[in-house]
Amino acid sequence: MVQGKKLKLAICRGATCSGCDIAFLDIHGQILQVLEKAEIVFAPTIMDAKYKDVEAMEDNEIDLCFYHGSVRDSENEHMAHLMRQKSRILIAFGACACFGGIFGLANVTNRDGIFEEVYRSTASTDNPEFITPETRYVDKGGHELSLPRFYDDVFALDDKVDVDYYLPLCPPITEQIMTCIDAVVSGDLPPRGTVIASEKTLCSECDRTKSEERRIDRIYRPHEVEIDQEKCMLDQGLLCMGPATRAGCGTICIKANVPCRGCNGPTKEAFDQGGNFLNLVATIFGVNEEDLIEDDITRIFKQIKDPLGTFYRFTLPKSMLRRVKK
Ligand code: SF4
Ligand code: SF4
Ligand code: SF4
Repeated sequence: MVQGKKLKLAICRGATCSGCDIAFLDIHGQILQVLEKAEIVFAPTIMDAKYKDVEAMEDNEIDLCFYHGSVRDSENEHMAHLMRQKSRILIAFGACACFGGIFGLANVTNRDGIFEEVYRSTASTDNPEFITPETRYVDKGGHELSLPRFYDDVFALDDKVDVDYYLPLCPPITEQIMTCIDAVVSGDLPPRGTVIASEKTLCSECDRTKSEERRIDRIYRPHEVEIDQEKCMLDQGLLCMGPATRAGCGTICIKANVPCRGCNGPTKEAFDQGGNFLNLVATIFGVNEEDLIEDDITRIFKQIKDPLGTFYRFTLPKSMLRRVKK
């Protein structure tokens, strides 16, 4: 950055719940530090902003863009390309942008399946002609209206454009947001493609007592047991994704006595977070990883209310499965 010049910062949204926008507001007093260093030039959720303002900018005019949410329709993709073109540094912000996130679980079905459910099958829907959103509509006065095209698949940001850095979690925490901004201001940037989190697993930063040899014979949901706050959750039969998840969040959920759901994504070694965790669960059930057969998987899955949502809650589009065929 040029000395004394403010960073041009953008916060762009894709398919998002906007919890990632709230993460920015959650930095509370530190927003003043951000505003000392940065001028927010585009953030449609928190200030008036028009796409045409971004389109009018020079290429690379934005110094740092945080893109949150996954890519689910043609508008999300258009904005991903536009922000890439206009931004020097593009960060996939939050689990949805990094891995497809919660919305990525929609890859169990496709556009037709979702439209069938939303515009016909639900009990509260009265739509006998099965009218669904069209991408183009011309009214009686000849005015043309358009809507984004809804895709069959949910994508992570880097499935569509090049991404410089990844900041996972659902949503990212203040400390990491400030780390990113400071790094861009100082110019002291990590290698391109870096995930702004630890290379270790969450268990490495968790101070609960772990047993030497894990063995369980039943899986519990958190409301079914009184959770011992000192002991490892997995040792208590609770599915805690810590062993298959990157450290870096400070074990926030564990400290609140809630098992980790894996929102920081897999470590580099784990690659497929859900598959990795399934192997581990099989092992603690006494099944040898190499001998893992369908019967064992069925036996384990019978005890889990929502296996896909448990193992791939944030990462289905980036997993080896990528989507589930109907
Ligand atoms: S990462 Fe979490 S908070 Fe951010 S958009 Fe996705 S679901 Fe919402
Ligand atoms: S499995 Fe969960 S509770 Fe157990 S050590 Fe790892 S992070 Fe901590
Ligand atoms: S403990 Fe797990 S689910 Fe909770 S914030 Fe950390 S990585 Fe995400």
